[in-house]
Amino acid sequence: MSIKREIERRRTFGIISHPDAGKTTLTEKLLLFGGAIQEAGAVKSNKIKKGATSDFMEIERQRGISVATSVLAFEYEGIKINILDTPGHKDFAEDTFRTLTAVDSVIVVIDVAKGVEAQTEKLVEVCRMRNIPMIVFINKMDREGKDAFELLDEIEQKLNLRVTPLSFPIGMGYDFKGIYNIWEKNVNLFSGSSRKNIEETIEIEDLSNPELDELIGSDAAHTLREELELAKIYPTFNREEYLNGELQPVFFGSALNNFGVRELLDCFVEIAPKPRPKESDTRLVKPDEKDFTGFVFKIHANMDPKHRDRLAFVKIVSGTFERNTPYLHVRNGKKLKFSSPNAFFAEKKQIVDISYPGDIVGLHDTGNFKIGDTLTEGEEMQYKGIPSFSPEHFKYINNADPMKSKQLEKGIDQLMDEGVAQLFILELNGRKVIGTVGALQFEVIQYRLEHEYGASCRYENLNVHKACWVEPNDPKSDEFKEFKRVKAKYLAKDKRDQLVFFADSAFTLQMTQTKYPNIKLHFVSEFK
Ligand code: GDP
Repeated sequence: MSIKREIERRRTFGIISHPDAGKTTLTEKLLLFGGAIQEAGAVKSNKIKKGATSDFMEIERQRGISVATSVLAFEYEGIKINILDTPGHKDFAEDTFRTLTAVDSVIVVIDVAKGVEAQTEKLVEVCRMRNIPMIVFINKMDREGKDAFELLDEIEQKLNLRVTPLSFPIGMGYDFKGIYNIWEKNVNLFSGSSRKNIEETIEIEDLSNPELDELIGSDAAHTLREELELAKIYPTFNREEYLNGELQPVFFGSALNNFGVRELLDCFVEIAPKPRPKESDTRLVKPDEKDFTGFVFKIHANMDPKHRDRLAFVKIVSGTFERNTPYLHVRNGKKLKFSSPNAFFAEKKQIVDISYPGDIVGLHDTGNFKIGDTLTEGEEMQYKGIPSFSPEHFKYINNADPMKSKQLEKGIDQLMDEGVAQLFILELNGRKVIGTVGALQFEVIQYRLEHEYGASCRYENLNVHKACWVEPNDPKSDEFKEFKRVKAKYLAKDKRDQLVFFADSAFTLQMTQTKYPNIKLHFVSEFK
């Protein structure tokens, strides 16, 4: 098959949601449609559960699962679908942000009763900033929840989206009768039985057709007609706008009951983008270019203590990735060959000879890769867009076992490459500070240092509100010199040697900004 054809038939996306909205359930139902799994319950939730086990055990369990669910690929009607897993837990938000640099579109899952929740807001904001095409799936229609119009309003206001419903619910909760599919112009009746895989759909092109009254009762038919009339205030669906991130189609359904999922999937394969061009530091790279290029968006340590290598996840942007072919690791200038690149199918990994744009390959790595690294056939260029975010939790990290300082160094170094947290070195005294987005990461680091590297660490509290990257308009200015002198105690360097300012309160941050107007303080590491 030609590379063009392979690109055309690929859809690489992520499902984002607040925990518990139904992401795992929906993923599983999508895989069922693709025939990639045979029964429900096969996809494990990667959620952090609060329970009897201690937190770090729970993190390990979660990590084990997320190795298996990092990429779930399947075929549906000739389309190759790659779902990239995104943790919903807020402490792992950075992981999710990074994964969002590797998707071509997303599906946002919202719980009908809870509406827009905190994590949904954060993640959608990142997608909106990057103009990622989004489809919204309102889940759990079998439960009592908010009115459809109220929800559409809430999505528009809280998520700042421009929505258009492509399906509309008939009743809700106990009275949930089914869905009118605006996209396909048919009615789908809800049977409430989760065993039934594909429901019957009844074509109703014309809403005034009396068959509708017979199917759902005249009261419900009347309400539906009225509601659909009202729904005309929403913009008509326009694929261009959707692809530009300017319009978001909305579907209703119940993932648990496998209801409304096929409609979502059918529309998704039709409208969702194929692999898209990507900006690098030198030029825009198109997927159908001959030469291979790709970038690392995730690194996973092996869970098996006997195999200490890591798996680097590479998104292929252009050309074909081939086994045993030397590629340039641009950052360190080395040519690397991979004898056993993994491709992902449902929950299995498999060695592949060739992969295409949109696909993800898992490369065994002994410490060469960092998140954000670019691979090419020789071209000197770097992909942009894998930022670090301002951490919000900080602790000094100290060596608790002087005999194991080498191990500790190595462990910290590798965990930082994986993107578990960020390391800062204080300018004043060279002390090491770990900054994380979530508090859970401190436990993860301590536990993994001990179990994977045989090193032990101790933390010491440090009162920092936020770390920001410093960019002076003029590095030689007196203003910048003064800033460095006055703030000397609060300055550090990150792993890329960029200057970072530790603000101890929101007030300090504000004052600093006012006092030094020609020094920019950034909340994201990538600003150049
Ligand atoms: P995630 O945290 O977003 O991955 O959510 P899960 O898929 O694990 O779902 C959270 C809970 O909601 C589970 O108990 C599911 O069984 C339940 N759930 C998911 N979809 C539906 C649905 O359509 N209706 C109902 N009633 N429950 C659902």
